[in-house]
Amino acid sequence: VASLDKGQLLTVYDPSIAERQYRQQILILDVEEGLASNAMWLEYQPKVSIRDSKVRSVEALIRWHHPEFGAVTPDQWIPLAEQVGVIHPVSLWVIERACSEFRHLVSRYGSGLSVAVNISAVDLTHAGFEDEIVDIIARHGMRTEDLILEITETAMMTDPEASGRIIHTLSRKGFRIALDDFGTGHSSLGTLASFDLDELKIDRSFLKDILAHPTRQRIFRAALELGEALDVDVVVEGVEEQAVACWLQQFPGLYGQGYFWGRPEPARP
Ligand code: C2E
Ligand code: MG
Ligand code: MG
Ligand code: MG
Repeated sequence: VASLDKGQLLTVYDPSIAERQYRQQILILDVEEGLASNAMWLEYQPKVSIRDSKVRSVEALIRWHHPEFGAVTPDQWIPLAEQVGVIHPVSLWVIERACSEFRHLVSRYGSGLSVAVNISAVDLTHAGFEDEIVDIIARHGMRTEDLILEITETAMMTDPEASGRIIHTLSRKGFRIALDDFGTGHSSLGTLASFDLDELKIDRSFLKDILAHPTRQRIFRAALELGEALDVDVVVEGVEEQAVACWLQQFPGLYGQGYFWGRPEPARP
């Protein structure tokens, strides 16, 4: 900084950063009220079997219409909510809401459907989390197998040992566990194998320009082989184009999610 003159400092200082931080803080203060009012709701995006486009499960994604800022995407507030420790009530609200809408989802997409929710690493460290979710699903007459818990690779790897233990407990109760955004974190392959995973979601960054790049195709295939070695369902995230969806048809048993098959929508549109 000492080597910068005043003019340079002025260009380095970006008021939009301060504004963004300020706005994030306001958002965090408003989370509770957002949950209690009708300002937050869930939309569901299908995960399909690529071979026949049959919907296998749906993923709940939180939506927020803020009274002052309008539509606020999860990326704008969830990471901070995790950092400052207010995510747990959000996760419980999401699970409760997803379970209360489950029968509408089943009547729309057919029986055998499961519903996936995104949870955070903080939830895993919360004492009694498993009892809380067991209680929620029981109240809604659901089975633990009906619920998939999606945890990002990054979250899982912050404390792999503790995560692994709790995932093991949840898994024994019948909940299904998905590793989200695989390929964006730093998994040790040994640690991955020790988790009780049911699903591996390959991050959409893997698909970038995939049809034009044989190297990227080989890396993608390697990720699929990893899924096979782990004996889990593999879901490819972020499929937007028909050409990519067609290319993916060659991999038997593969699942996909993306705007090509369906955008997130309310349970009862
Ligand atoms: P995610 O769990 O990986 O969810 C997938 C995100 O990709 C969603 O964004 C979805 O709308 C978007 N997406 C789906 N298909 C496509 C596609 O074909 N192309 C592109 N470009 N995007 C696609 P969304 O809803 O904005 O959520 C972003 C992230 O925020 C989620 O990533 C998840 O990590 C987090 N999130 C969303 N809802 C919740 C929630 O209820 N709780 C928690 N803890 N996190 C949530
Ligand atoms: Mg997810
Ligand atoms: Mg993801
Ligand atoms: Mg993501």
